[in-house]
Amino acid sequence: MKFTVLGSGAGLPSKDRNTQSFVIDCVLEYNEYILIDAGEALQHRILHTHIKPSKIKNIFITHLHGDHIFGLPGFLSSRAFQGGEGIPLKIYGPRGLREWLETTFRISESTLNYPLEIIEVEAHMKIRLNNFDVHVLPLSHGIESFGYIFKEDDKIGELQTDKLREIGLKPGPVYGEIKSAETFTVDNTVYKSADFIGETIRGRKITVHGDTRLNSDEEYLNLIRNSDLVVHEATFLKNEREKAHDYFHSEVNHVLDIFKDINYKELLIVHISSRYTDEDIKEVSALLEGRAVIAYDYFELPIPRNVK
Ligand SMILES: [Zn+2]
Ligand SMILES: [Zn+2]
Repeated sequence: MKFTVLGSGAGLPSKDRNTQSFVIDCVLEYNEYILIDAGEALQHRILHTHIKPSKIKNIFITHLHGDHIFGLPGFLSSRAFQGGEGIPLKIYGPRGLREWLETTFRISESTLNYPLEIIEVEAHMKIRLNNFDVHVLPLSHGIESFGYIFKEDDKIGELQTDKLREIGLKPGPVYGEIKSAETFTVDNTVYKSADFIGETIRGRKITVHGDTRLNSDEEYLNLIRNSDLVVHEATFLKNEREKAHDYFHSEVNHVLDIFKDINYKELLIVHISSRYTDEDIKEVSALLEGRAVIAYDYFELPIPRNVK
């Protein structure tokens, strides 16, 4: 599984940064890409990658500001001609998404040749997707804005074959049965299966925020705690904490302060304003000291399984 940034910019696109779009690539595990947000020119960005539009089967929209959705109608229309014919697509997003899309399609006389389901979400709604539980996280951005927490199911640990051999059990179909039974018997002795199974393999957890002010509530921090990857905006990079708050956005040092105890593996900073130069970004990156990475377009981050 990996996380790909197709647009790392905020508000206006620049030559280097497109407006916000991300992809969770789970083709190997679930044969699909999950798209999060659809900034303008999303489909042009996709053309520079190996992503197949027909394999985008679920889209999550954080909020309805233009820099997060203006690429959606074009992408949806083109998908039909890029192998998507007949392949269903679901789009999750805030209230108003359906009306906006239906109006756009009606007035532009666009028709899709695949089933499209639009699901308008609410705070703390739970969505089941492949082996993920998706939790809808309410944010604070003036307009209704959400984050999405993708939590993969935990997996039962590996069978400890050395220990099984020690009690005289040779490899065979019985090994598979041990994982699903509570106990098993060898030479009239009953054994507990759990004693022969390694530690549970924790499912991956990816938390992606839409635009927002920072939130330090304990209840919220507990929801995103222990994420393998946290994606958060920092429209402001330079000690502009109050200004960020006034504009319903976040500032990078404040993000680090708030998240210092939530035990994340990777923190990716996105939604970078086009007013910052490459020099500014370098300067700020150096100060992050590895606690976070500032995203750029086409940035890819592998998210390996939590095998101990
Ligand atoms: Zn935005
Ligand atoms: Zn916004």
